[in-house]
Amino acid sequence: MSTRIVYEALGFFVGLLFGSFLNVCISRLPQRGSIVSPGSHCPQCKAPIRWYDNLPIVSWLLLRARCRDCGQSIPWRYPVVELATAIWFTIQAARFHTVLQFYFFDASHSAPTSYAPSAIISNLAITVLGFLLIGLMVMDWQTGLLPDSFTLTGIALGFVLICAQGIFLGPNEGQILLTGNSIKLTSAGTTGDTGNVFITGPEALIGGRVLAGIGAALILLAIRWIYRAVRHREGMGLGDVKMLAMIAALLGFWPSMLSLFFGALAASVYGVFLVARGRAGGTSKLPFGSFLAAGGLLAAQVGDRIIDAYSQLLR
Ligand SMILES: [Zn+2]
Repeated sequence: MSTRIVYEALGFFVGLLFGSFLNVCISRLPQRGSIVSPGSHCPQCKAPIRWYDNLPIVSWLLLRARCRDCGQSIPWRYPVVELATAIWFTIQAARFHTVLQFYFFDASHSAPTSYAPSAIISNLAITVLGFLLIGLMVMDWQTGLLPDSFTLTGIALGFVLICAQGIFLGPNEGQILLTGNSIKLTSAGTTGDTGNVFITGPEALIGGRVLAGIGAALILLAIRWIYRAVRHREGMGLGDVKMLAMIAALLGFWPSMLSLFFGALAASVYGVFLVARGRAGGTSKLPFGSFLAAGGLLAAQVGDRIIDAYSQLLR
């Protein structure tokens, strides 16, 4: 039997637990509630939820979507978020398995194992991003809010992870040669000498990712500003800007632009659909953050392939 299925099963199980925790965040963070206390309780009758009624997906099905104490219906959002998070973790666990196989168990190639930590860390970054984006997607849809506790935490995690990636770079790996053997270097008390000038791998990696976050935020701020100048009303909040910066911090600049493209496309299609059904006019508000989050999930999953194909095309 393939070991892949073991990784996937573990990913699914861990994903269910994270999905369950994500539901608590979704219910409480937009109201600025604590995610630790009080423990899980029914919002209607306040009765604490027994552990066997708190199992991801299973309990919702067994209870037939009703509180055991007061019969209040439990929204289908709960099992859906749990299942979505579990599926996301399953996909990433499968990718983790592929990375391990490729670098450590497959003798048919010559990729140095020193590249493995980098691949594992970006795998982890995508897993974290999915958790945050699923939460943000639902929160914006239900409350119109994108809590800083998700977006800013995501940006910070992106920075930490890219620094970790920098630490594991091999000697001279990823460095950029600025000028070769042409620049004259002098320092106090020595004679002049010519040499190469480099940006080291970690500098290029970390600096590049910081610029990616800032660049993505500036682009969305510019779009927001133009929209306001033309339409004389607010098109999107700063939460959307922070979320795009978070996507750039965890994935990189081009994937974040792809997310923006997917998100804007999906929001437009949905807007046209609403107008066609007579359910919205030119001034209706759309939860753009939800579409941007969905775009981010898609870009995290297929972004590499699209960006590769596109750069092949330009070559
Ligand atoms: Zn109840």
